[in-house]
Amino acid sequence: MFKINYLVVFSLIFFSLTISAKKFNTVKVGMCADVHLPTMHDSEYRITTFIDAMKKEKPDFIIELGDFGTPEPKYAKYFDIWNSFSGDKYHVIGNHEMDGGTSREKAIEYRNMQTGHYSFQKNGFSFIVLDGNDKKNPEAKGYKQFIGPEQVSWLKTELAKASGPIVIFSHQGLSFYKGVEENYGVENYQQIQDLLAAHNAQNPTTKVVACFNGHTHLDWAENINGIWYITITSMSYHWLGENYESIRYSAEIDKNFKWIKYTAPFKEPLFTTVEISTKGTIKIAGKKTEWVGPTPWELGYPEEQKKYMRPAISKRNLKF
Ligand SMILES: [Zn+2]
Repeated sequence: MFKINYLVVFSLIFFSLTISAKKFNTVKVGMCADVHLPTMHDSEYRITTFIDAMKKEKPDFIIELGDFGTPEPKYAKYFDIWNSFSGDKYHVIGNHEMDGGTSREKAIEYRNMQTGHYSFQKNGFSFIVLDGNDKKNPEAKGYKQFIGPEQVSWLKTELAKASGPIVIFSHQGLSFYKGVEENYGVENYQQIQDLLAAHNAQNPTTKVVACFNGHTHLDWAENINGIWYITITSMSYHWLGENYESIRYSAEIDKNFKWIKYTAPFKEPLFTTVEISTKGTIKIAGKKTEWVGPTPWELGYPEEQKKYMRPAISKRNLKF
């Protein structure tokens, strides 16, 4: 009798554990943003550090959030390092992928992608990757921050056919940020936010829970209408511009990497792993490093940017 009771108790515990384990889906994502391979002299070290960490950590997939590198032979070895990760890996198309006279089409082809916007499933979650480099009008020149009408209607279809919680990736943010010299966020961010909020109101089981972006190099998270809009800090630096020039490495490095003096580099590469659970949690692993050379504030960079500008990715436990 005594033995049977124990058996019943153990069976109940095992049964309830099995049920609770099955109840929630979790996905773990290795993430980095704004690597800017052509800018830094130590890009090989940075990308290798990330890929080595991911080989150990074994997330469900890795993704870089754009501004990775141009399709030039001299950067091919860095793409090879990226591709040495044997698990699933994804690219987001940033505005700097087309620098030096190349094109969005070439950048997409170089990454073996069909288009800049696409979707995939993992562990019961739906992932949507957007391309914020559409032209607002045929004459648009320079860097773009726009999701065109065709892509918006594709996005609507993707939202409608999602089979689980949705996570969106884009290079340019889907929310607004006022920078020092320019405004950030796709120009039609309000249209996209309204579209996502409307979808969520109608579809509680397949709602959009988070949108991740890069581009501003900031460390930022805000909740708008129940959706997290999260910016992942650049792997490499903050862009300060010509008014804040400073030689931070050797004269030799500065000669060969002409953009570094306009940046405030991070000593160690920044990247993170993000764990999202249908329990309603988003856990972002934190990583801290330090500036190389003078801080932006020591060079007179506007103090109001200090709030989100740091050589770190903040550890966050967000709820949705
Ligand atoms: Zn960018």
